[in-house]
Amino acid sequence: MTAIPNVYAAEPIPDSAMQEVQRLLSTGDLFRYTAAEDSPVALLEQEYAALLGSKYALAVSSCSAALFLSLKALDLPRDAKVLIPAFTFAAVPSSVVHADCIPVLCECQDNYRIDMDDFAVKLPNVDAVIISHMRGHTSDMDAIMTLCDAANIPVIEDAAHSLGTTWHGRNIGTLGKIGCFSFQSYKLINAGEGGILVTDDADLVARAIIMSGAYEHNWQKHPVLQDAFAKWQNQLPLYNLRLSNLSAAIVRPQLGELARRVTDGRRNHDHVATQLNASPWFNVPEKLAPELRAPDSIQFNLDGLNEVQTREFARISAEKGVKVQVFGLSSDNARAFWNWQFLGDTPDLPQTRAMLNKACDVRLPARLSLADCDAVAKLLVESVAQVMGNAIAA
Ligand SMILES: *Cc1c(COP(=O)(O)O)cnc(C)c1O
Repeated sequence: MTAIPNVYAAEPIPDSAMQEVQRLLSTGDLFRYTAAEDSPVALLEQEYAALLGSKYALAVSSCSAALFLSLKALDLPRDAKVLIPAFTFAAVPSSVVHADCIPVLCECQDNYRIDMDDFAVKLPNVDAVIISHMRGHTSDMDAIMTLCDAANIPVIEDAAHSLGTTWHGRNIGTLGKIGCFSFQSYKLINAGEGGILVTDDADLVARAIIMSGAYEHNWQKHPVLQDAFAKWQNQLPLYNLRLSNLSAAIVRPQLGELARRVTDGRRNHDHVATQLNASPWFNVPEKLAPELRAPDSIQFNLDGLNEVQTREFARISAEKGVKVQVFGLSSDNARAFWNWQFLGDTPDLPQTRAMLNKACDVRLPARLSLADCDAVAKLLVESVAQVMGNAIAA
């Protein structure tokens, strides 16, 4: 029997990072704006923009910082309303609050994506939209962009966990006006912390660059039309959300690993999905047709389990060695909207709530072998069978 893999362990950082880290440590050159040009952060921005097919990239301290700066760069008035999915990470409504805007929560479906009926109803009353492609599940970007373009409402893509995913062959994060990504350890590229935003809009990125902390004339070290910057000199607050050279040195060699991580992650996901779908108690939602996914975890819905049985399934799985997170079934889950009590009263969103109470989350990193994946799938299927015993699935 294959041992149950540790799905939380990270992949090693490529050896090639070491030489650059050594160089930075020996020179102490850790600040992105010390060198006249080609600092590791600046090189990362060029490489990332090229990889994604965007004109501009700005590396910052986290994806949350990127989301906050995106809202600020859009120059939304105080108390502007920003539509966000009700299924997202607490950092998203937090970034909206941080930017002095008001989040408006949109229902999500059983397949973890935006409910387009609720979206269409709420869109006329908002000033901007953030689409979180949660766990890389891409909402219907054709429908979203059509509606938002017609209403002239800017779309920020929260692609924190969607690097490598494509939609009609185009990279997620390049479909809206701005795309934001994370380098936090649980994402496809791991620098511990870090984030980056991409856009084709020179004026927008100029504003974001200055506000990220390109004080005085440090903006001259960014390859953006210089006119776009000159008019904002001394006009904008400096929030100092920069990335350090050390982080960039750890990210850059991982860009070359991306294609493999995407392919292996998808292989692992689809392999486990087939086995889970063979159980009457599990349902892994289908992806949308234009989407090519880059998963590093799997989400599936429990079918026909009540709350007691759901908790029992999670308990037994954990006991056997795989932690299953049911998004809605803990008092502190940061992806359950009713736990965002910093918003005051959250609206009742019964459809998203019902989904969160049956949606399970299991990490499935690209480095797992198919035998590892078999062990995980078998454990989950056996755990649910143990709970449900001789019950007959609907
Ligand atoms: C991880 C994550 C974030 C936050 O990223 P940080 O870099 O930790 O700020 C935001 N949105 C989604 C969907 C995420 O998965």
